Amino acid sequence: MSLFSRIRRRRPPIPDGLWLKCQSCAEIIYVKALNENFKLCPKCNHHYLLSARERIDLLCDADSFSEMDAVMLPGDPLNFVDAIPYPEKQAKAREKSGENEALVTGTGTIEAIPFALGVMDFTYIGGTMGSVVGEKAARLIELARDRRLPLLIVSASGGVRMHESIIGLMQMAKTSGALFYYKQAGLPFLSLLTNPTTGGTTASFASLGDIILAEPNALIGFAGPRVIKQTIRQDLPKGFQSAEFLLEHGMIDMVVPRPQLKATIAGLLRYLLRLPVEAPPEPAPAAASAA
Ligand SMILES: [Zn+2]
Repeated sequence: MSLFSRIRRRRPPIPDGLWLKCQSCAEIIYVKALNENFKLCPKCNHHYLLSARERIDLLCDADSFSEMDAVMLPGDPLNFVDAIPYPEKQAKAREKSGENEALVTGTGTIEAIPFALGVMDFTYIGGTMGSVVGEKAARLIELARDRRLPLLIVSASGGVRMHESIIGLMQMAKTSGALFYYKQAGLPFLSLLTNPTTGGTTASFASLGDIILAEPNALIGFAGPRVIKQTIRQDLPKGFQSAEFLLEHGMIDMVVPRPQLKATIAGLLRYLLRLPVEAPPEPAPAAASAA
């Protein structure tokens, strides 16, 4: 028996899902360490995808998030079939993501500041925008305007959902229109772009933030680099469509590592809402009344 097969025989089997090869640096990383580190690779700091719920936990104060429109489901107006019929695709996406659609919306607090929050879930059909994503986003924006709340939308999206075709495309106009009225009310909209944010999502609400933030190295663009390269028949510059490249070229305002996101967003909201920089000190206990 060779040395290697003897070692193989002696080694206990590794349970599935305990270790993972980093998709960025190829190091073998311990999944528990990844999960305890904001889903950042401990070796190369690669920012792994967060689900909508993980993102809400990261940004909102504990138990402060109250969801709205949770059971809004898409129809199939075009009877669209690609590899499988669209309703089947939706059912699979629901099972995979645990969400009813690619956008979760609601209200909560961040460092005690009330705000309206929308978070896209990339695991639901690539975070694509169809009629439900557009409707939920528009309702969130209108609620934020009515209650005079600051607004944050976290994008992770492959663009408009082709299964809804023109109805999906119309959501770009709807969400942009809702934001126009929101901004007319003098309220702040922060847009956070995460890996990846592309297509009609980039071309509508995601790019309309008063302040646009992004996570490090996030891919942000309209068409993918391969399509652009084929169209213009030129090599693309290094780092093209990365968050850092877009920051350097004035398309976004800040690149913020995940562990600093909550404090940075809360700080921006305090500034934009003219709130005290720090929480006011606790009032001194009233002097004991004379006996
Ligand atoms: Zn890594």
